[in-house]
Amino acid sequence: MMRSHKLALHIADASWGEIRRQLTCKTDWNGKELVIIDRFFPSSQTCGYCGYCGYRNKEAKDLSVRLWECPECGALHDRDINAAQNILKEGLRKRTPAT
Ligand SMILES: [Zn+2]
Repeated sequence: MMRSHKLALHIADASWGEIRRQLTCKTDWNGKELVIIDRFFPSSQTCGYCGYCGYRNKEAKDLSVRLWECPECGALHDRDINAAQNILKEGLRKRTPAT
């Protein structure tokens, strides 16, 4: 998201470092695990439909594009919901297995 100049200032204002610090503190305090995914993970550019397709768009879509159809499987995606589902999947994939 920091690659978008329009968003960069807003994101910097949100103080992601402080948000991450707070989340780390709260998850440690409550005995939970905080899973960090790569900042450039293509969450909104990857088809997350049913977990089978996995189509990844090579070009970033303009933020004004809120809906897109996967050319591989035909699934219609809301950009934010698709991104949230992909972030959840990636977080679960990276999670440390319980011992
Ligand atoms: Zn697809």
